[in-house]
Amino acid sequence: TGSTRPERILAAVQRKATKGDARSVVNTIDQYCRYQEWAMNVGDEKGAILDSIVCEVKPSVMLELGTYCGYSTVRIASMLPPNARLLTLEFNPAYAAVARQVIAWAGVEDKVVLIEGPSGDWIPKMKEEFGVTSFDLVFLDHWKDRYLPDTKLMEECGLLRTGSILLADNVICPGTPEYLEYVRGSPRYESKYFRSHLEYTRVEDGLEKSVFLG
Ligand code: SAM
Ligand code: MG
Repeated sequence: TGSTRPERILAAVQRKATKGDARSVVNTIDQYCRYQEWAMNVGDEKGAILDSIVCEVKPSVMLELGTYCGYSTVRIASMLPPNARLLTLEFNPAYAAVARQVIAWAGVEDKVVLIEGPSGDWIPKMKEEFGVTSFDLVFLDHWKDRYLPDTKLMEECGLLRTGSILLADNVICPGTPEYLEYVRGSPRYESKYFRSHLEYTRVEDGLEKSVFLG
């Protein structure tokens, strides 16, 4: 067809979702990815767990690692308290271009700063470039071998404070064994698993919520 999967997801949003209605954008993408073609969005089932944690934490400043088409970005942004900001990182320019349009269609662009480039380059610049003191909540959902090095980098850069929360997707499927071992074994974290399923399937997967104790 000449189009990419993210472009087809965007087309589904433009065809079916109500402009300015974040919930409608989320539902449209879930429908498309459940019945037309699978995609690596956090999805509806784990998304409900994500929603409840965002609501509980009420972050003022939040970071998302891995934007893809902006599905979780829209989901999170729509749950944020007024004046909160979500910084989201994506290193694939084609995905970032789609995400910008999905975020705008949902009407949440005022809450979102989409940063293009690799996490390893941007994390050390977060304080100077974006005036971040520390993150209240971080959603880790980029490539799985980056969870642990980027967590250590955030620690080194002083981006985590006592009580900051890391929420990691796909800790079972595809899996992030070194990261899990670290947050579960370290006295600097209190960690809890939320059992669920890989997006749009019945395969076990889950989210790991880890509180940084300082
Ligand atoms: N959070 C999205 C959602 O639930 O809708 C899905 C994100 S997808 C699983 C992972 C994304 O992370 C991909 O778009 C990939 O290009 C991006 N990515 C992977 N490693 C990255 C890195 N080190 N820095 C920035 N982006 C990265
Ligand atoms: Mg994921």
